[in-house]
Amino acid sequence: TIPVITIDGPTASGKGTVAHRVALHLGFHYLDSGALYRLTALSALRHNVALNDEHALAKLAEKLPCKFLGDEIWLANENVSNAIRAEEVGNTASKIAALPTVRHALASLQHGFRAAPGLVADGRDMGTVIFPRATLKVFLTASVEARAQRRYKQLIEKGFSASMENLLKDLRERDARDSNRAVAPLKPAEGAHFLDTSDMTADQAVEQVLQWYAA
Ligand code: C5P
Repeated sequence: TIPVITIDGPTASGKGTVAHRVALHLGFHYLDSGALYRLTALSALRHNVALNDEHALAKLAEKLPCKFLGDEIWLANENVSNAIRAEEVGNTASKIAALPTVRHALASLQHGFRAAPGLVADGRDMGTVIFPRATLKVFLTASVEARAQRRYKQLIEKGFSASMENLLKDLRERDARDSNRAVAPLKPAEGAHFLDTSDMTADQAVEQVLQWYAA
């Protein structure tokens, strides 16, 4: 069977960086499941779809014209790699991610990423819902302050403006929403290894995940 490594955790915990590097190291495919929610959100914002129109949002998610080309993410014929990282898009993603029909529409898309020689998938429910029989499950966390700092750096690098105060508030709100929603709430999967990266470099975190995988 095709090995799957799931890396779940709160927003800006560094799981994207870690998952991506682990995938590169092992030569595995990489699924950034948050990007699918962000793409759906961006699509909804662009098409003026109401954020409570569950049916229309599910339709958007089902027919998402997205392509993953190396490190680039495309929506129809536009490179949206940077656009989907905007805070507004992340916040909208976290709102529509609470809708069961949207999650259902994105599930089969996500299962499709599992291919030889293996997959590293990051998100909130990779180990609990999408790939419950994964080879290795990791729950990656970091303090809210460490995460706000990382997100700040990320946003500035991408040319967005940002304030630490707003980021802390946003992160806390998003944590609460992701953890308290009725469907697929953010929580450690059964058998998950815990990794607190507050005082770790990305390389150290990658090393730990690879060690667990090899064990
Ligand atoms: O990880 P990222 O911040 O890109 O995800 C954006 C939003 O998408 C999250 O706040 C979360 O609400 C949602 N999400 C989810 N399930 C996933 C991945 C992301 O609900 N597997």
